[in-house]
Amino acid sequence: MERAAKAPVALLAVSKTWPAQAVREAHAAGQKAFGESYVQEALGKMKELSDLDLEWHFIGPVQGNKARAIAEHFDWVHSVDREKIAQKLSEARPENLPPLQVCIQVNISGEDSKSGIAPAGVPNLAKIIGGLPNLRLRGLMAIPEPTRDEKLQRARFSELRKLKEQLCASGFDLDTLSMGMSEDMESAILEGATMVRVGSAIFGTRDRK
Ligand SMILES: *Cc1c(COP(=O)(O)O)cnc(C)c1O
Repeated sequence: MERAAKAPVALLAVSKTWPAQAVREAHAAGQKAFGESYVQEALGKMKELSDLDLEWHFIGPVQGNKARAIAEHFDWVHSVDREKIAQKLSEARPENLPPLQVCIQVNISGEDSKSGIAPAGVPNLAKIIGGLPNLRLRGLMAIPEPTRDEKLQRARFSELRKLKEQLCASGFDLDTLSMGMSEDMESAILEGATMVRVGSAIFGTRDRK
């Protein structure tokens, strides 16, 4: 099978629930980018690992009262799904740091999952983010409903890729498709993922630790 796009695939190591020492070991093995979903937990690890040159990505739901801490401490946020949060992140981004790199989280399965904006709302949110001084829109992110059906996996990821292609065609300069986790990363890569977010396949099963 051929991949839909030829961009290189970056690995985001999802270290949520794992201790700083696990991040230190992955870094020693050459990994630089780490994903976290819980702000307090992440801040503790950042402090412990401040001697390392790491890139931190926030991938969990962004609560309004956590936006400031996220804007101050992370390099990327994959989970921007509404205007209010985008504005808060931009306002709270310290002037001495580069713009916060962000993805719009899209609810492509249209299911009960409450995170992510509906596909129809993406162009407008992209325009809003494009007008915020301290954010840099890099692309789209999605977490489709878990399924072992590879056809369905690929159909969902293909939807996200097409959405990004539409945005690029209408003038947005996007280079990132953040899609694929331990269980579905192969389908995501086949559909053009540029960044896969992998936790348990690297660190081990979270509920067994
Ligand atoms: C936990 C998490 C991952 C990693 O999941 P694994 O199944 O452990 O690979 C990826 N993305 C998001 C948004 C997550 O919350």
